[in-house]
Amino acid sequence: MMIALAKPMLGIEEKTLVNEVLSSGMLAHGEYVRMFERDFALFQGSEHCVATSSGTSALHVALLSLCIKPGDKVITTPFSFIATSNAILYAQAIPVFCDINLQDYNLSPKELKETIKKHPDAKAILVVHLYGYPAHMEEIMAIANEYKVPVIEDCAQAHGASINGKKVGTFGHCGVFSFYPTKNMTCGEGGMVVTSDKELADKARSFINHGQTSKYRHDVLGYNYRMTNIHAAIGIEQLRKLPYFNERRKAIAERYLREITNPAFIKPVCLSGFDHVYHQYTLGVNNRSAFIEFLEKQGIGYGIHYPTAIPDQPLYQQGEILGSFTNARIAAERVVSIPVHPGLTEQEVDYIVSSLQKYE
Ligand SMILES: *Cc1c(COP(=O)(O)O)cnc(C)c1O
Repeated sequence: MMIALAKPMLGIEEKTLVNEVLSSGMLAHGEYVRMFERDFALFQGSEHCVATSSGTSALHVALLSLCIKPGDKVITTPFSFIATSNAILYAQAIPVFCDINLQDYNLSPKELKETIKKHPDAKAILVVHLYGYPAHMEEIMAIANEYKVPVIEDCAQAHGASINGKKVGTFGHCGVFSFYPTKNMTCGEGGMVVTSDKELADKARSFINHGQTSKYRHDVLGYNYRMTNIHAAIGIEQLRKLPYFNERRKAIAERYLREITNPAFIKPVCLSGFDHVYHQYTLGVNNRSAFIEFLEKQGIGYGIHYPTAIPDQPLYQQGEILGSFTNARIAAERVVSIPVHPGLTEQEVDYIVSSLQKYE
């Protein structure tokens, strides 16, 4: 038996609402999507939410809605899931990589300052709140505002995370979420663009629906990136459970922070005022292959997020690589995520703690 790294938690509530959609016959984009958007806007404290088919499509339309054009530079992190910078490629824009810091694996404000000085023509900054831990948004927004560059927050791993009570996704010009099954909440597949800028929201709404502005009028090239009522029904119920899911993740993470004292591991940091929602509980370890072998023997699921810095991916070798990513490479060598999902039992957490304590 293997303790899984991730496990979506679906109950009778999701099934009931999905059945309601199926019985209604209105399967595609409709009233359940509107309801999910309203609920999510309330949760975020943001005015506008536009539901999409995935987190990736939400990133793409966020860039398009900020008028990112082919050839524009977009500053982003080299250490994330590939979707973050692929969305920049979808817009035919050029990613400029800005290195992370090794304390929290998020974009480093100090590096951002250097990067933006070298690329003052950058048209946007795409920040990620990796593993559910907020990036240093106050410093990042100060730099972005100084250079008048809009900020997109990739919150695909950080539903409900906040800094001094302010939710991620509300610092920049827009926030983007994913509802893939391994995330802190799911729709099956799905995404959301969140903003307080009505014009941006209107553009996003048009881009996800073939660029339609009124019935059968198409001013720009858009896509079919719509969410369905079926997915929205799952999302509505998952959002209600999200606070509980996040509390469980935090409680397990707190046990790990307290009880895993083995010096073989570099543990996650959490500054005061930062609310970490532990999408992943990620350790740093020197001899990772030995540790992985150990985890496999112990029957503990794990993940490597991520084994390769994005600019080192073959896809990104095809063009000129802009920016720096020394720390991203170090991180890619040392990170390992262990199970922290809300479906873990206390016994499983006990077992994981005692296993890791005896690792040498
Ligand atoms: C999951 C994820 C995405 C993409 O979301 P999908 O819904 O899978 O398209 C984007 N960015 C990050 C950081 C992610 O973790």
